Amino acid sequence: MLRVAVVGSGPSGCYTAQSLVQQDARVRVDVLDRLPCPYGLVRYGVAPDHEKIKSLQNTLRAVLEHERVRFLGGVPVGPGGVPVARLRELYHAVVYCVGAATDRRLGIPGEELPGSWSATEFVSWYSAHPDAADGGFLRGVRSAVVIGMGNVAVDVTRMLARGAAELSPTDMPHAALTVLASSRVDRIHMVGRRGPSQARFTTKELRELGTLPDTGIAVDPAEAAQDPAYTDPSALPAPQRRNVEVLRGWAGAPVPGARRLVRLRFFLRPAELIAREGRVGAVRLERTVPDGHGGATGTGRFEDVEAQLVLRSVGYRGVLLEGLPFDAAGGTVPHLAGRVLREGAVTPGEYVAGWIKRGPTGVIGTNRPCAKETVTSLLRDAPFLADRDLPGDPLAALRAEGVEPVEWRGWQAIEHAEAELGASLGRTTVKLPDWDTLLAAARAAGP
Ligand code: NAP
Repeated sequence: MLRVAVVGSGPSGCYTAQSLVQQDARVRVDVLDRLPCPYGLVRYGVAPDHEKIKSLQNTLRAVLEHERVRFLGGVPVGPGGVPVARLRELYHAVVYCVGAATDRRLGIPGEELPGSWSATEFVSWYSAHPDAADGGFLRGVRSAVVIGMGNVAVDVTRMLARGAAELSPTDMPHAALTVLASSRVDRIHMVGRRGPSQARFTTKELRELGTLPDTGIAVDPAEAAQDPAYTDPSALPAPQRRNVEVLRGWAGAPVPGARRLVRLRFFLRPAELIAREGRVGAVRLERTVPDGHGGATGTGRFEDVEAQLVLRSVGYRGVLLEGLPFDAAGGTVPHLAGRVLREGAVTPGEYVAGWIKRGPTGVIGTNRPCAKETVTSLLRDAPFLADRDLPGDPLAALRAEGVEPVEWRGWQAIEHAEAELGASLGRTTVKLPDWDTLLAAARAAGP
């Protein structure tokens, strides 16, 4: 038997567990997660109105319900939890699928002002992440600036523009629904430092912005046309060409008398967040021009855009997990085909998959081949790894050390509580948004 711990129950963790049990009948997998709930970014990152992507939870569920897989929630690994070195003693192999837990910074004056948030903080709040704070995101907000041109920027822009009728059927926590449904935001500026052909969003997500009820969409054709590929997109790869075609379709089109307006702005880079009455009041943007090599350079010309809310959506970043090597520049763990590298040498028994392996890019499906590569490496090492006697069932050892994991039954009890909460509110499932209610629901399932 080969006992493997997978740390992280998001898509990369679940695909890793799936690949392990599918490829080798001797493997038993424990999927550990810091949270009492599984599914990682599928539960706490995919926008609540993206039901189709969210339904991927059913695929991940089947993995965690496999007879040779156990879900062990509420088990932090690292400082304050199970040390990395202890995990190595308890299992033949450990695969870290811990994602990219923090956000990149802009490094500009005013970034810390009240009213300036990372998109991750906003997403976590409306996704009911138990660590998220209700920051009063929309208090007094009429105009919002979203910095970045990736899919997360599109997500938060769309959530700011959605109304009660579209949000009520989702599983978002009731407090967030109440705030978003009564929002007075009527201007959302999505700002990119480069041109339309260099935006990172995918066309499906972009198009959706144009379908939002009571929301107009505007692109300034003169601004966008600084990008030569905007004027002639024929040489672009298909994904970028389709983006440009959608944007061209919106450019210059008369903006209907909608309640809200989404403006997509290009060639503007954030220079400073300007305070008004102790909080952010405007974003100072520097106009840029293409540098001829795919980048953009500043022009020294500035424009201020009024905003009481700034969402910085400039990408995620992996964080150091104590006990593992870390490449601070890339925010990843150095590896060779998924095998962790310590000072350039492979460490048998330690592996990575997902964003902590390759950085925060790609869609959920990208994690499948990524996990497969790691599992192939691990199973090649298996004869050597399985040679070591383990101290016994890791779950018993963890319990003896005072760790009380939330097992699958506990998670099912949380799901049940969320369905009951939804029913009591006249909605479908509604997520529990804090540690106390999650743990109380899980513990109600019994030991
Ligand atoms: P992303 O795709 O890397 O986009 C980051 C954006 O921030 C880019 O437009 C980037 O511009 C900009 N940026 C970075 N540093 C900046 C700075 N200092 N100043 C101004 N702009 C800056 O990141 P993401 O949106 O967080 O998405 C992460 C991954 O999750 C992506 O692979 C995404 O597709 C995926 N995702 C997918 C979905 C979906 O499929 N529906 C939903 C959400 C997320 P430059 O290009 O100029 O660097």
